[in-house]
Amino acid sequence: MACSVLAIVVPCYNEQDALPQTNQRLLTLLGGMMRDSLVGENSYILYVDDGSRDETWPLIAGYCEANRRVRGLKLAGNVDHQNALMAGLETAREDADVTVTIDADLQDDIRAIPDMLEKYRDGCDIVYGVRRGRASDSVFKRTTARLFYRFMDAMGARTVYNHADFRLMSRRAVDALCRYEERNLFLRGLVPLIGYRTDSVSYDRLERQAGESKYSLGKMLSLAVDGVTSFSVKPLRLIFYLGVLFLLISLGILAYVIVALCQGRGVQGWASLMLSIWFVGGCLLVCMSIIAAYIGRIYTEGKHRPRYNIEQYLK
Ligand code: UDP
Ligand code: MG
Repeated sequence: MACSVLAIVVPCYNEQDALPQTNQRLLTLLGGMMRDSLVGENSYILYVDDGSRDETWPLIAGYCEANRRVRGLKLAGNVDHQNALMAGLETAREDADVTVTIDADLQDDIRAIPDMLEKYRDGCDIVYGVRRGRASDSVFKRTTARLFYRFMDAMGARTVYNHADFRLMSRRAVDALCRYEERNLFLRGLVPLIGYRTDSVSYDRLERQAGESKYSLGKMLSLAVDGVTSFSVKPLRLIFYLGVLFLLISLGILAYVIVALCQGRGVQGWASLMLSIWFVGGCLLVCMSIIAAYIGRIYTEGKHRPRYNIEQYLK
């Protein structure tokens, strides 16, 4: 097989602290892989600036000028990690045979990239980078991440455990991905649906080298909601079971009342009445908001708005 052109797609949002080191390490890796004839001479790194408000874009522009193996895509505004990745992939597929997506903080071990390429050469279209452990993450990050995967699993959204968005995709896999036109992007759930030959490589998750995590708890929750509502209607089914449970409870209460009346005991209970009204009312509101989450998705999907706009492409 002739050497394939590789594009390493790196989404960046306010990454001025991490970028200098990232750029250096990625260029060294790319140079090494070219020497070993793992990838073609035209391979490149594509930084996607997701509307950063710091010095990220000037840095990227500087790297592009200094090295022909670096390209920069500036998005008009912050569209979020998933959309930024999509922007990079859609741009890279124009001339790259194979893409690898990796976060700008290089928490994912870049030494796994040559292994991914080996698998690609063996005929895999998609290779997941899977974390072996999370020893370097904070307890908070580790716990929330574990809850995230558990929750997704319980809700019926299939994802690859401990795999984030560090993955290799062949051009035809990216082409296939681009045909999924949904706006509520959750790539980790979407990519397994493509169906081409898949494999994974494992690596140790490292510490963020500079800057701080852009994923707040709020963002992580909304990613989880996106994931579940885009891939499963299980929550809607759970509402039905909850309804059945409540009906059964009410039948039990009815039986209790009848027995009490037959025995000539009065039935009183302001407290239990208030409690059940508020309890049932609360449950109803939660159920309604679950349904509303789905309606919200239908609303945004129905508009067919573009996922991102490109302000500048330097190559
Ligand atoms: N990112 C982005 N847009 C955003 C938030 C994050 O492009 O709105 C990028 C960020 O620059 C990084 C990647 O997405 O390259 C993952 O973010 P981060 O490392 O903060 O997340 P974590 O690893 O903590 O989950
Ligand atoms: Mg990170």
